[in-house]
Amino acid sequence: QDRCLADGANGFLAVLQFKPKCLPHYRKRDPRRWLNLQEYQSKKLMQESGVAVQRFYVADTASEALEAAKRLNAKEIVLKAQILAGGRGKGVFDSGLKGGVHLTKDPAVVGELANKMLGFNLTTKQTPKEGVKVKTVMVAEALDITRETYFAILMDRSFNGPVMVGSPQGGMDIEEVAASTPELIFKEAIDIFEGVRDDQALRMAANLGFKGALQRQAADQIKRLYDLFLKVDATQVEVNPLGETPEGQVVCFDAKINFDDNAEFRQKNVFAMDDMTEADPTEMAAAKWDLKYIGLDGNIACFVNGAGLAMATCDIIDLHGGKPANFLDLGGGVKEKQVYEAFKLLTADPKVEAILVNIFGGIVNCAIIANGITKACRELELKVPLVVRLEGKTALDTHQHWNTCTKVFVLPL
Ligand code: ADP
Ligand code: MG
Repeated sequence: QDRCLADGANGFLAVLQFKPKCLPHYRKRDPRRWLNLQEYQSKKLMQESGVAVQRFYVADTASEALEAAKRLNAKEIVLKAQILAGGRGKGVFDSGLKGGVHLTKDPAVVGELANKMLGFNLTTKQTPKEGVKVKTVMVAEALDITRETYFAILMDRSFNGPVMVGSPQGGMDIEEVAASTPELIFKEAIDIFEGVRDDQALRMAANLGFKGALQRQAADQIKRLYDLFLKVDATQVEVNPLGETPEGQVVCFDAKINFDDNAEFRQKNVFAMDDMTEADPTEMAAAKWDLKYIGLDGNIACFVNGAGLAMATCDIIDLHGGKPANFLDLGGGVKEKQVYEAFKLLTADPKVEAILVNIFGGIVNCAIIANGITKACRELELKVPLVVRLEGKTALDTHQHWNTCTKVFVLPL
């Protein structure tokens, strides 16, 4: 009842990302792992696919924001803090300012508000408690919104493919809508060979509550959003709100796109936009050495090869009353240098009070691991207890080697 199945490291990462109830003891410290773009970057991609978004500028300082607001020459202006989390509208800054999204007619006010946003932390439902520092704001043309709907396209395993999800009750309380009135959430599976059919797009538009000419317009936006979804190898494109204006336009007011990491090789332009400033520094350092690392909130470091074994190891630690401090997957063709770097990462973490190495030598040669660990122990002057289990290829030789020349304690086979 409280166990999840995931295939491979990406599967496990996905499980952690969605924070299901089944993994209470593997709480991830930082919910972010994959490429994430800021709203303004996502909107650029949308513009390129012919999706309707408002005119906007981006600013890093209050004076730039003021200039942008003047240049925009709009009847009304919206100022939006750019962080990699939703719920900004209802968020709070540590400058005291309430709301990460503000509407005003006066460019001077944009400057004043930007002053209380830039350099301050914004806390929302989706950020850590201390919030996330705002380094950029978006200054956009505001439009009156008569109705806010929710629309997303996402990869859904239960449908074995992409699914459209929509609700006529979009806006800032979509989580609440999903919880209290699930009948107002509509789903439509997309056939990957046919794409979004006309009748499907129109049905979704109708379910979103668009009437008359707006229905065609919304259906057209839905199709363009699916084109974008395919073009950039997204795993999710979310628009909340997909709004309706009094002038009879359907506009995407907010944008959140997630990307498939495996498509990095053919999405160079998208991945070049990666904003790593909000990423966990340890995860980034690990990625540099091609190691999969996820910080958890326990105190026993797990040094494992393969996501399946890593999960089993986390489970075993948990079963025996311990708590994993992380999830470090060495992967297949590991080199001695990576082992050393992995140890450096683990020992630098002050939460780590012991290290458990659990390696199955299939593709990996245990001797490589053993050499890497021995070198790391000597050079890093390891202070915490280290427990090692090596099984498989050359494990036996390794045990003999260790028993004679190091002080490392090796569990018997
Ligand atoms: P978040 O989802 O992070 O709270 P949004 O971009 O959805 O941020 O903005 C919050 C709310 O602000 C929207 O639901 C909408 O009501 C309003 N809003 C956002 N952009 C505009 C705009 N260009 N013109 C008018 N209102 C806007
Ligand atoms: Mg929103």
